[in-house]
Amino acid sequence: MLALNNLQVLYDRSIQAVRDVSLAVPEGRIVALLGSNGAGKSTILKAISGVLTQEEGEIIAGDIRLHGESIASASPRTVIARGIVQVPEGRGLFATMTVEENLLMGGFTRSLAEVQEGLEQIFSLFPRVKERRRQIAGYLSGGEQQMVAIGRALMGRPRLLMLDEPSLGLAPQIVDTIFDTLITLNRETGLTVLLVEQNAQIALQVSSYGYIIENGRVVLDGAAEALRSNSDVQEFYLGFSSGERKSMRDVKHYKRRKRWLS
Ligand code: ATP
Repeated sequence: MLALNNLQVLYDRSIQAVRDVSLAVPEGRIVALLGSNGAGKSTILKAISGVLTQEEGEIIAGDIRLHGESIASASPRTVIARGIVQVPEGRGLFATMTVEENLLMGGFTRSLAEVQEGLEQIFSLFPRVKERRRQIAGYLSGGEQQMVAIGRALMGRPRLLMLDEPSLGLAPQIVDTIFDTLITLNRETGLTVLLVEQNAQIALQVSSYGYIIENGRVVLDGAAEALRSNSDVQEFYLGFSSGERKSMRDVKHYKRRKRWLS
């Protein structure tokens, strides 16, 4: 469905955030992008969404293809119209608007009947969002805001939903609810998902394939099951090795290991 071929992205004509990334997101799958802070994951999503220019970023080489057609220079509006919708990191809700108004913003290109259908779908997926629909979005809990952000993206009827760190700062129970909903959507509607996560544990549980990004490059990729049983992934991303949990500080040391970088 979506393919990135040797993508390179530069910010401010000087900072190379993505050095060489090729990846594939097949239709109907959940694919995870993993990697530590600053690896380039959000930049990859922004390149796909067509919003790089808003941040002085540009694609300097490579291509992004949706069903074989290049969307590398498409506007954000065109990308959405082609069925790709992103839930940004930090959720990007309109804090002073109500939950329902936020949801309606996501459906602005849709007909009235589609908007109504979309709202019903979201309220049945997230009953909490239904309960809170008349409240001001900025006063919701982080988990509720994440549900609204996903709901708003779904109002655009995406074929490919891209999520940037949906678990960030949320309690484990809420994270489970959110990921259960994504799995339901994927199974029942065939929604394709590209998921950026630092929580490798959960990302590799819900996805079928994963890419590990470091310093703007794919350093490892494979079926989620294979990645879960890979000893480097276990040590540096899943936080267990010889029975002892590693801290994020330890995780950083992995960059020095030559094995993956060769
Ligand atoms: P995180 O999990 O911290 O969001 P990430 O893997 O998503 O990390 P990116 O946000 O894509 O990483 O950042 C990749 C690199 O590009 C970093 O070195 C970052 O400092 C740089 N960068 C990101 N956005 C910009 C920008 N708007 N202008 C300049 N440099 C940027």
